[in-house]
Amino acid sequence: MDSVSQSCAICLVPVKESPGIRRSRTSTALGRKIRIKDTTTVVRLQPCAHEFHHTCISMWVKQSPRCPIDLRLIMGSTPPMSRPVNLRQELFKSIEGNQIENVREILLTGFNPAQRSILDRKNPLNLSLKKQHWEIAALLISAGLTTNSKVAQYSLGWMYRNGLGVEQNNVKAISWFCKAAQQGDTNAQNSLGIMYYDGLGVEQDYDRALTWFRKAAAHGSADAQNSLGWMYANGLGVEQNYTRAVTWFRKAAGQEYAPAQNNLGRMYHKGLGVEQNYTAAFTCYLKAANQGADVAKDNVSWMLWEALETGQKAVEALIWFNKVANKGDAPAQNILGRMYQKGLGVEQSYDKALTWYRKAADQGHPAAQYHLGWMHLNGQGVEKNYAVALTWFGKAANQGNVDAQNILSRLRRSGPGLDPSP
Ligand SMILES: [Zn+2]
Ligand SMILES: [Zn+2]
Repeated sequence: MDSVSQSCAICLVPVKESPGIRRSRTSTALGRKIRIKDTTTVVRLQPCAHEFHHTCISMWVKQSPRCPIDLRLIMGSTPPMSRPVNLRQELFKSIEGNQIENVREILLTGFNPAQRSILDRKNPLNLSLKKQHWEIAALLISAGLTTNSKVAQYSLGWMYRNGLGVEQNNVKAISWFCKAAQQGDTNAQNSLGIMYYDGLGVEQDYDRALTWFRKAAAHGSADAQNSLGWMYANGLGVEQNYTRAVTWFRKAAGQEYAPAQNNLGRMYHKGLGVEQNYTAAFTCYLKAANQGADVAKDNVSWMLWEALETGQKAVEALIWFNKVANKGDAPAQNILGRMYQKGLGVEQSYDKALTWYRKAADQGHPAAQYHLGWMHLNGQGVEKNYAVALTWFGKAANQGNVDAQNILSRLRRSGPGLDPSP
């Protein structure tokens, strides 16, 4: 310890200087002028055994819980400091900042947050779950922490359900969902419904799925309302009842829940449980598609094609396609390109077709790459360019586009003089 006891690393004055000296000096470690009131009391840190003046180290721990020399976490000292390091506070800071190594180190000091935390509102486990720092949460669980908070219990179920920070385990997921659901947590009730519906970690059981979905739906879970609608629409565990299905889809759709908006659209589209209504169907699909639901995007474009084929005006659809295409949605860009190339619902324009195809093709959309190749092969809106056409066909074919693969093999046999037949 001799190298240690030479001078205080905070003020650089020897730690064992003659008693009673008071002086001011600039601390290198703290970066400012400090006044050393007392050079007689020497504090030895645990576990590293480095020594400092009491005044100096007391000032130091206000800004850092670690030894200024070796940066080890300070677990205590002899004699005790007037303001010891608050490990509990340090634990919360580390959880907040997702510093898992810090958390591990604090737990290794023998500090046991579990003793104080089970019924504590300010529970480190709850904080880690709220922050979605799953690995830290797993660490705290292994240190014996648990929780009575229904929200945290639901998050624990979610962790096990999805293998976040822990090994995926449906049985453990169910046990946490149950705890939270019994305390009335809506998300947990819905999740239990899903576990029973899909038979995950339990035997598939539509009756129990319905029970939990009903509880969650009554508490306003849009996902559960949508599931109930689905079960009525398909007669799963209940007698098929389209009217009830529509009622549940409508409730969930009213909460702007995209899958339910899409399902409700389908009921209108097919006239199931409601009078068939294309406008209402389209509106529902559109709402869901605007929220990014892929299946609804497909439905919107499908309805658009239907409308175009039957010669109807599809102004609303066009507006929508323009909007999402301008936002960079490649499938929408491709469809717009197709509409301009063929003059479907719009005035035919190769220029505009090329523009939209290019945007989608540059984003790697295979069908757009194929169409762009076709336009170059046949000189639609551009000079005929066999090489450029081959490049685009090649890109599309590499992504598994069957049309592009077919045309490439035909071109390899017959060369450039190919008849355009879209
Ligand atoms: Zn000092
Ligand atoms: Zn040290």
